Amino acid sequence: MTGMFGLVSKKRSGRKLRGRDLYLGMYYLQHRAQDFCGVGWGDEKRLNQPLIHKGFVREKFPMERLQGLKGNFFIGSVATDRQPLPEVSQQGGLILGYDGNVINHRKLMKGFMRKGKTFTDYCNPGDVKDTALISKIIASETSFEQGIEKLIEKIEGDFAIVSLTKQGVYAARGWGRKPLILGEKENVYAVSSESNSFINTNMKIVGDVEPGEIVLLNKEGIHSVKKFDLKPIKYGTFEWIYTAYPTSVIDGKSVAQVRMSIGKLLAKNYPIDADIVSPVPNSGRWHAIGYAQESGIPYEEVFSRYDYSDRSFTPRDQALRDFEAKTKLIPIEEIIKGKRIVLIDDSIVRGTQILNQSERLKKLGAEEVHARIACPPLMYACKYGKTTKKDMDCLARRMPVSEIQGKLGLDSLKYATVEMLEEAIGYSREKLCLSCWG
Ligand code: SF4
Repeated sequence: MTGMFGLVSKKRSGRKLRGRDLYLGMYYLQHRAQDFCGVGWGDEKRLNQPLIHKGFVREKFPMERLQGLKGNFFIGSVATDRQPLPEVSQQGGLILGYDGNVINHRKLMKGFMRKGKTFTDYCNPGDVKDTALISKIIASETSFEQGIEKLIEKIEGDFAIVSLTKQGVYAARGWGRKPLILGEKENVYAVSSESNSFINTNMKIVGDVEPGEIVLLNKEGIHSVKKFDLKPIKYGTFEWIYTAYPTSVIDGKSVAQVRMSIGKLLAKNYPIDADIVSPVPNSGRWHAIGYAQESGIPYEEVFSRYDYSDRSFTPRDQALRDFEAKTKLIPIEEIIKGKRIVLIDDSIVRGTQILNQSERLKKLGAEEVHARIACPPLMYACKYGKTTKKDMDCLARRMPVSEIQGKLGLDSLKYATVEMLEEAIGYSREKLCLSCWG
């Protein structure tokens, strides 16, 4: 998981970059990953060695620190691996950020080693991360465009890339699962994993980098330099359901509005007599608002999400994920007692979160708990970059829905269907990645 932000200043070289734009551009992607953050910067003459730290943007790269960077080009990443990574290349060097997953990583690594190429920052082949592999593939070619062409030829998986070069900031998108969006204001061109970066920086959305497209941002503007006819295009359905921030717009579709539409469709298709509708916050919130609007049942939050907790899917370790899931929500007994509650969540992966919460609600005096889930039962681990690693982690692989309802102690349980997702997102199933639902 990665969030990438790239910026080009239109001002003449040698000037300081505006720290506020750099900081907020990265800061508003923090929900995508929390392990590492890094920055690279430079201009037409020189790229500087990137700085990468473990931790959060607000701690490691506060605005004052970014304020001092001199140059015209900037790239920042928040990620589960160390990036952006530098690579000396025939193109004169690059600093690369990557979002996605290389399914055939091992095979590609072996091919590289056979040709005598090395990965200098690692001592075990298994430690080499996708970003290092991808940057080697791209740097091996004579131009960035050719590097992307080689990547498309070689990898199984998907990608979005933001890369700093002496020509400017390149952005490239694979088959569509990973978003990339372009923005602009008076003195700046920008690209980001999500338009959330643009709102409080007062940038306006220019448009999405299209699947298969390579875009170059330089002082003269935003240029589409190549478009590959990739097939099949598959948009990342889960971005709208859970991953992206609700204020973002992905491929022209507002994340909050899509979530509300799913909630409305859940209410239309699975009505229930209840006293209140509540989300499992935060990711169930906009779905729940839609459900409440459509059903006319009052919206009340039975949990307060503690402001200082992290998103529960991002820790790599299961025990840590469970701990996070349990501690981040604090129930409000006075609202729960004696109520029939419709509880809305974005998805059920392992079931630990909703089991914890339904048990707690019943203990605190809820009369009934009905769950409505904003996507179909998850059956497979994501091959393209999310943290569910094994198919068998998915609860729906291990038992039918009727059994899940009993196991989770729910009075009823209903899932959104693929048809509902098609209607809410506005793409037919052929254009949506549905791999994790089989
Ligand atoms: S498999 Fe699921 S989570 Fe992974 S990219 Fe496709 S829709 Fe997103």
